Amino acid sequence: MSTDTATQETREFQAEVKKMLDIVIHSLYTEREIFLRELISNAADALEKFRHQKVASQGEEIFDDHLPLEIKIKVDQEKHTLTITDTGIGMDRGELEHNLGTIAHSGSRTFLANLTENQRQDTQLIGQFGVGFYAAFMAADKVRVQSRSFRPDDAGHEWVSDGTGTYTIGPCPGIRRGTRIILHLKEDAKEFADEERIKQIIRRYSSFVPFPIKVAEEPV
Ligand code: ADP
Ligand code: MG
Repeated sequence: MSTDTATQETREFQAEVKKMLDIVIHSLYTEREIFLRELISNAADALEKFRHQKVASQGEEIFDDHLPLEIKIKVDQEKHTLTITDTGIGMDRGELEHNLGTIAHSGSRTFLANLTENQRQDTQLIGQFGVGFYAAFMAADKVRVQSRSFRPDDAGHEWVSDGTGTYTIGPCPGIRRGTRIILHLKEDAKEFADEERIKQIIRRYSSFVPFPIKVAEEPV
């Protein structure tokens, strides 16, 4: 392993991302529950990408090939955390930095473009275009993303941020393939550390996701 992937670093978000995070964190909270839809949608995309990768790999070695393709959600009422785990394609260190530290994806670009046109910093926009991953900061004041890609010679990494300007990235040894997102819920977002509430949101927004979604190991 190179020293690059073994060290812990603090990095600055791209300016566009800072703008986005500022809006997400300070927006109205009427539709806050859509953050879960965004994270489940990303998990489902990652599982779909894994399926394609497996075909493309044509029998070449894949890390943790045996894992069932699924999304698992857990709450911890004492720690006030909500954890979303997928066994999808995963991200290596560079992908974590690029995908979560820059605006590399279409949904967020559309969101920002519309925002400058209309100057409407409300959740209607967030709900309409979807701010993607950054929606996590509507409910959480700290987000940890642990990920391990499908590539056999790779290693796990953890990305951590409180959404205010910087994130850290460092090694996270011993994890399974895919991505785990741990939300440390805001004081006023503790309602999301509740299994029934989570199931209700999943039924409302994620009923057509083509992979099993389990809450506390039970299929929703
Ligand atoms: P979009 O889904 O529109 O691309 P997001 O902001 O939701 O934008 O996500 C940004 C990027 O981060 C995704 O395109 C993907 O590359 C990466 N990503 C987010 N969540 C996951 C995940 N669970 N597994 C793998 N990659 C992910
Ligand atoms: Mg997305």
